[in-house]
Parts: sequence; structure tokens; C-alpha cells
Amino acid sequence: MFPDIYDISRLKFVSVAAMGGWSDGGWKWGNFGVSEGDVVDMGVEEEFAVFKGRMEDFRGWMDGKDSVEWNAPEEAEFTVASCYNFYNNLRIPFGPSNRYDGVYELLWKLDVPFKIKAFGWRLFLNRLPVKDLLEIRGIHFPLDELKCLFCDNSLENSNHLFFSCLVVKIIWNEIARWVGKGDTVVEECLSSYFYWHNFFVSKKVKVRKLGVVWLATTWIIWLVRNGGYFRKEAWNVNNTV
Ligand SMILES: [Zn+2]
Repeated sequence: MFPDIYDISRLKFVSVAAMGGWSDGGWKWGNFGVSEGDVVDMGVEEEFAVFKGRMEDFRGWMDGKDSVEWNAPEEAEFTVASCYNFYNNLRIPFGPSNRYDGVYELLWKLDVPFKIKAFGWRLFLNRLPVKDLLEIRGIHFPLDELKCLFCDNSLENSNHLFFSCLVVKIIWNEIARWVGKGDTVVEECLSSYFYWHNFFVSKKVKVRKLGVVWLATTWIIWLVRNGGYFRKEAWNVNNTV
């Protein structure tokens, strides 16, 4: 509202509390970091007067200093139980909520071996032992071996390995073509699952089969990746598909 005043102020990145102080039970503004000389030099006397007038007129805080107050519903005073309830009500099971959180439940309904569900669960939560996570846990590789097996270019992390790797995208596109799914590859795990699931919903596939193609694809990518790393097995896109 007062860009010229802001320009010449030397108190740009401070809180309102630093712009004045309490004296004799009342709030007194300081000079807002603005020198009279600068006001005259810049020819903004009128603007500065209007600005000061507005600030003096504001009486919103004259009742006293700010204080901290516990504001959880129905609880006048802070208790550990009210704090627990407050957080519990937020229901954040695995980090901030996400529009694709529903996919966690869909996974357990699928008609696939438990081992593969458990794999899917770890993939959803980014808990598979891909190289970036191993590095974080202190298991180090030479830089060259941190690369993705498939493209031998990007560093391996879960999202790259399963979704955004250029080679892996070819596999997804082939599978999509094979089942008649038209749109492009989604490069993120939960949303990818969500869109594949919905595609098969639209094809009237049974509930227990909805995520099977997606899970089979990611599972095979994982097996080929492990075969390539641990047993130096040869692979190619066509065989994988
Ligand atoms: Zn890659």
C-alpha cells in the first residue's frame, strides 16, 4: 500500500513488534526505520504522513500484549489428552494426506499372493531397498553403481526405477497399449496406481483384479532389476514386457 515508504525503510524484514514498544501501558510506534531526510529527499512527505496516521489510528492491540492460548475444541486448559485428541483427529497415517491415500486399502483387496501385496505396500510407502534409501542408511556404493540399471544414466530411486525412467516408461507404454489404455504414463507411484485402478474399473474388471496388472508390472520391474544387479542377468525391454 505504501511502496515508496517501504523502499526507504531500513526495517524491512522485522516483525511488527520491532517497530515500536510499550511505554506507560500504551503502544508507541518508532520511526518505522524511515529517516526524515530520506522522506524529504524522496518527496514522499504526504504519503508518509498518511501512513503514520493510519498506524496511529489502529488500536487493535491496545488491550495488552499477545499471549499464547490453548485453543483445542471443548478444552479450556491444556492437557496431554486434549493434545492427543487434537492430533488424532487429524488422522494422518503416513504423512500429509493425499488424494490418492485410498489406494492403500485397495491393495489388500487384490487377489494376488501375499508376498506381492507386501511388495506393493513397501513400494507405496517408498520402503523398498532402492539405492537412494540404502545410501541414507549408510550402505554406500561407488557413484557408478548408484545408477539405474535400466537407463544407466539417472541415480536410482523408487520413483525413477518404477515410473519416470525412460526405459521403464517404454514398458508401461507397451503394457498400456496391450490392454488398450490410452493416456500417458504417470510418473508417481500412488497416482499411477490410482489411474490404472480406475482404468480397470472403467473396463468393469472385478474388484479383486483391479490392481493386478499394475502390481505385476512393478513386481516384474523389481525382479528384473534385482536379477540385473545381483545375478548380472541380461534383460531387455521386450522380454520384460
Ligand atoms: Zn533409469
